[in-house]
Amino acid sequence: MTNEHVDTDVCLVLLKDIIARWPKANDEDIETYRVALGSYLADSFEDVDLHNRIEAVASISSIERTNEGVQIDFYDVDECLQRAAFESLRESEWRLKSLKFQCPVCFGEGVNDGDECDMCGGTDWGAS
Ligand SMILES: [Zn+2]
Repeated sequence: MTNEHVDTDVCLVLLKDIIARWPKANDEDIETYRVALGSYLADSFEDVDLHNRIEAVASISSIERTNEGVQIDFYDVDECLQRAAFESLRESEWRLKSLKFQCPVCFGEGVNDGDECDMCGGTDWGAS
């Protein structure tokens, strides 16, 4: 008996709720969003991710159950690849841990011209 599909389905619904409330390109007041999204966010969520403006989910690239939780890779309407990580608070209760864009300089390699990528600091996702 596994809840794997239930977990991924729940997180997919959460993701769409979250993106509907997520900061858009012209929004300045990030603090308002931090408060409005509060109940969706894990304690370890870093506010810097809210500067990653996302208009809408265009398509889901992959969704998987990992040891840490559920990870969803998706393309936004600007064709950027985004990665959302969810962690389980308790059974069937999920919170967004991070939401980062794939590095547009090294495209997830972490290395650029043989050196650690300056943009993402070798982390592949988000800005360093
Ligand atoms: Zn990079």
